[in-house]
Amino acid sequence: MWETTKRWARVVRGLFYPAECAMCGAALDTAAAGALCPACGAELRPLRRPFCERCSLPFEGEITAEFRCAHCADLTFHFERAVCGCRLSGVARECIHAFKYRHALWLGPELAALLIAAAREGTRWDDVDVVAPVPLYGAREREREFNQADWLARRLVRALGGRLCAGNLIRVRDTAQQALLNPAERRENVRDAFAVRRPAAFTGQRVAVVDDVFTTGATTDECARVLRAAGARSVLVLTVARG
Ligand SMILES: [Zn+2]
Ligand SMILES: [Zn+2]
Repeated sequence: MWETTKRWARVVRGLFYPAECAMCGAALDTAAAGALCPACGAELRPLRRPFCERCSLPFEGEITAEFRCAHCADLTFHFERAVCGCRLSGVARECIHAFKYRHALWLGPELAALLIAAAREGTRWDDVDVVAPVPLYGAREREREFNQADWLARRLVRALGGRLCAGNLIRVRDTAQQALLNPAERRENVRDAFAVRRPAAFTGQRVAVVDDVFTTGATTDECARVLRAAGARSVLVLTVARG
């Protein structure tokens, strides 16, 4: 009973913008939309070139030609490209963490805006037929109360169009947290963790897979592999941040 009350209190609190910046606590001008003060908001900078054309890994320094990073050169991905909104550092990292694990829904629009801008800038959105969020394992979703990728995918579709296909790409087993593992372990950890319920919904479709963070790409690549096996014509990955 107490747990239920606490959960509802959290949900209700999540519906309102706080009067203070969610990151630094500075007083917010209530007339201004958003959950962050201008200084913290400015730190959510969109990813700018140069970055890897395949996996969006930023490159420090000057480079004018399109390039492929060393990380990608050795890997075969099942998706065509990963397009990311910003670098996973500082305020972006904290925002995503609070949104994902502490149910800070008021940060959602800030993160969705980065995702939508990345889709506008870095993709030909008209070429996307279906949007599929990376699923959580059922028990984990209940524990966390929502799936952040699903929330973001819904915002994206509302802003740019496309058909949301949630609940068709599913996670069939629980996996250890990727953040604690090295790249080889991450691939092993998610192997065969996903499945498609109704392949017909993806057959011949150009699919965009949505997640909050792209780090090694192990999770989204495994989703892409399963989607391609289900008959998807192509898979594009779209995330808020690049780790
Ligand atoms: Zn602030
Ligand atoms: Zn790369």
